[in-house]
Amino acid sequence: MATTTVTTSKCDSWQQQANCAGIEPDLFFPALGGDPVRAKAVCAGCVVRQQCLEDALAREEGTGVWGGLTVVERRRLVRRGLSSGQMLGHHRVRCGA
Ligand code: SF4
Repeated sequence: MATTTVTTSKCDSWQQQANCAGIEPDLFFPALGGDPVRAKAVCAGCVVRQQCLEDALAREEGTGVWGGLTVVERRRLVRRGLSSGQMLGHHRVRCGA
């Protein structure tokens, strides 16, 4: 699985580059009436998806869609011993020139 590195010089924080910035947060939390299908669609093209997923895994986030994965999917990833990169094969934003 190939991983592409995208480099950007505007990296105060990865959250600033999130596709979900400005979107109603409840969308990402099915328990609050969110829609995981729509949330995943937002995440699908997010350039910081891998960072988001890694952050959720590090925090052992127990709810919501993060990095395009539901909590069940994240637990499956951990059980299988996969890295976020292996799971996503996704762009990773690296800060710096
Ligand atoms: S991957 Fe994370 S940061 Fe990107 S849109 Fe989804 S929830 Fe937001």
